[in-house]
Amino acid sequence: MSQIKVNTDLKALNNEIAAQNKEKLHSCGILTVDVLGSPGSGKTTLLENILPELAAKCRVAVIEGDLATENDARRIEKTGVKAVQINTNGGCHLDAKMIERQFEKIDLENTDVLVIENVGNLVCPVSFALGEDLRIVVLSTAEGEDKPLKYPTAMLKTDAVVVSKTDIAEYVCVSTDKLIGNIGTVNPDVKIFTAGKTDGEYRAEGLVEYILEARKNLK
Ligand code: MG
Ligand code: ZN
Repeated sequence: MSQIKVNTDLKALNNEIAAQNKEKLHSCGILTVDVLGSPGSGKTTLLENILPELAAKCRVAVIEGDLATENDARRIEKTGVKAVQINTNGGCHLDAKMIERQFEKIDLENTDVLVIENVGNLVCPVSFALGEDLRIVVLSTAEGEDKPLKYPTAMLKTDAVVVSKTDIAEYVCVSTDKLIGNIGTVNPDVKIFTAGKTDGEYRAEGLVEYILEARKNLK
């Protein structure tokens, strides 16, 4: 069997399991959000900052994906939200089966929103469905203005992009406006948010409302 055929079969099998995950999660009234982005883009920091507000308005659970360590799950649990950790032991993306295996560790009947933080990687997580309703790509200003042009698939196969670390943009000689412009060039329909510290306080304007609105529309 050719390599291409094996890959196609693996993707088809993954899609099948992802569809089953989605059905199961929907039957429990759960909206699932897959958060993607490069290592160091600020995915965990974003979650640490929005989870307290989100968890005040609905019941949230988090799945953390990393190659190694339970560091991120521990960081999330400090916000008071329950988190389970997947270690892929070198695997560069999460797949639907890994998510399915976590279901017994999560109180699905008492969850409204499941947030999955994918392994830090802007390439292959994009082609592995997990059963998510929403995809959010986190892209930091430190990655450079032309990142959306270099990684168009990640911009196209997402519902929203969060431009993070806006507070350090000037120090890394990046224009947040140009970066946002490039995202819009690749995908004019994508929803764009910004996140960073303003006056010493981390803000991700409108993101919690966006997730809650999607949860409401699930019913
Ligand atoms: Mg992380
Ligand atoms: Zn991968």
